[in-house]
Amino acid sequence: MTRCDDRQLEAVAARIGSRLAGSGRLTLLTGAGISAESGVPTFRDMGGLWERYRVEEVASPQAFRRDPQLVYRFYNLRRAALADIAPNAGHQAIAHLEQLLGDRFTLITQNVDDLHERAGSERLLHMHGELRKARCTSCDGVAPWLADLDGDSVCPACGKATLRPHIVWFGEVPLHMAAEIPRSLETDVFISVGTSGQVYPAGGFVAEAQAAGALTVEINLEPGETSSLFDLKLHGPAGEILPPLAARLADSSEDPTG
Ligand code: NAD
Repeated sequence: MTRCDDRQLEAVAARIGSRLAGSGRLTLLTGAGISAESGVPTFRDMGGLWERYRVEEVASPQAFRRDPQLVYRFYNLRRAALADIAPNAGHQAIAHLEQLLGDRFTLITQNVDDLHERAGSERLLHMHGELRKARCTSCDGVAPWLADLDGDSVCPACGKATLRPHIVWFGEVPLHMAAEIPRSLETDVFISVGTSGQVYPAGGFVAEAQAAGALTVEINLEPGETSSLFDLKLHGPAGEILPPLAARLADSSEDPTG
């Protein structure tokens, strides 16, 4: 793995800065790679870690119908593991960008962990759901859920024991696709961080943002599936690239000549 050098980082920051100057908007998409440096396995790594199942086999409505206990256990373990991890420098740099840009910033994450919010991100769309929430299949209510979940867990809204993990499974439609995400892709700069681009619809966001006129930037350990579509690329660990990038953008936004 080669890490982009300071000169490349400087050049990309300058291009992003000039698009954001004035009232430019930034939409940032994150995937499993942003949480990798916090010790959360990426999608590819997770398949090898979890017993003898492929992730696709436990993360689907069919799996939940076939063996709900298995699916509850898979997510109970992942939810419990959140207590042992913390946001890394990449999550923090993204929260810093939001402080800098305010309403001009939107973060879309494919991740179901809560590391972005723990780092301070607020303008955040969890398109694949959240581990620390449960959803009722009777009343559609969504509630914070920190404990283990099982078939006896009762919905705080309607009182029925019909709760499932608040996770978008394979074959289900991601959240916020009707309005917030399409609106956020009409942007001036689109940055994708730590995602392979293999999971759709997120893998298609770069093309949508580009069609809307955005400058597109890939930040990933290595070129992802959709790498050739991006205008600019920075390869290396997100936790090493994002802090100096955010610092340069903060400097350029304070520079009255910039
Ligand atoms: P992915 O595993 O397919 O791709 C992760 C990408 O991140 C890879 O291209 C890898 O090269 C890159 N990467 C790894 N470490 C990195 C680092 N330190 N810095 C920068 N890049 C790094 O994940 P995906 O594209 O997000 O899609 C898989 C699906 O799995 C998503 O739907 C996501 O919801 C889910 N998932 C979520 C989590 C989580 O919530 N933390 C973890 C695993 C999987």
